[in-house]
Amino acid sequence: MSIPQKIKEIVNSIPQNVKLVAVSKTKPNEDIMEAYEGGYRIFGENKPQELTRKYNELPKDIEWHMIGHLQSNKVKYIASFVSLIHAVDSIKLLKEINKQAQKNNRIIDCLFQFHIADEQTKFGFSLPEAEEVINSETFKGFENIRITGVMGMATFTDNEDQIKKEFQNLKFIFDQLKTKHFQDINEFKEISMGMSGDYRLAIEEGSTMVRVGSTIFGARNYTV
Ligand SMILES: *Cc1c(COP(=O)(O)O)cnc(C)c1O
Repeated sequence: MSIPQKIKEIVNSIPQNVKLVAVSKTKPNEDIMEAYEGGYRIFGENKPQELTRKYNELPKDIEWHMIGHLQSNKVKYIASFVSLIHAVDSIKLLKEINKQAQKNNRIIDCLFQFHIADEQTKFGFSLPEAEEVINSETFKGFENIRITGVMGMATFTDNEDQIKKEFQNLKFIFDQLKTKHFQDINEFKEISMGMSGDYRLAIEEGSTMVRVGSTIFGARNYTV
C-alpha cells in the first residue's frame, strides 16, 4: 500500500474528532511529499534540527508538530513555525517557549507531557508537579503560550492491560486539570496518546490525537 493509502486507511478507521499526526522522523522529504500530494498536511518530528530543515525544504502549508523531548536552547529554531509542541515538561522550557513566541509575535500551543510509563527513560510531569507550575505566578505571566492539553507515552510492552491503565491514567490527569484549572478554556481539549502499536487502544481510552509513524512510512532505520 502507498503512503497516502495508509494514511487514508487510518483516517477512515478513527473517529472524526481524533487528529492523526503522521510521524515522519528519519524519513526523507520524498516520503512526506507523497503524503502531501495525497492531500495530507499534518506531520510530526522529534528533532528540532530535522524539523527545521524539513520546514525550510517543504511546502509552507504543512502543519508541523514537535513531538519529541525539546531542550530549551533549541526552541528558537522552531518557534516561528511550529504549530504544536507536544512534550513540554518543565517551567524552564515554558519560559523559553514564551520568550521565543513573543519574539515571533505569536502564541504557541503546547501540551504538558506526563510520565505515565513504567520506564525511567521517558520524560514528563507528575500531576502535582504540573499543578505546581500552573499555580505559579511565573506561569500565569506567560502570555504567548496556550496550553491545549496533555501528552503521554505508554510503556513499551506487549501487556495491553498495562498500556490501557497508563492511558486511563493520562485521561484521569486530563480530567483533573480540566476541572480544576482549565474549566473555562475551550482550547484545553487535547489528549495526545497512541502510536503505531497502541493507537486504537488509546482512542478507546479517550485520545484526541494519535502520533503514528511506522504504520504509515514503514520501519525506521536508525543506523543510516
Ligand atoms: C516516533 C514517535 C512516535 C511514532 O512512533 P511509531 O511507533 O513509529 O508510530 C510517536 N510519538 C513519539 C513521541 C515518537 O517519538
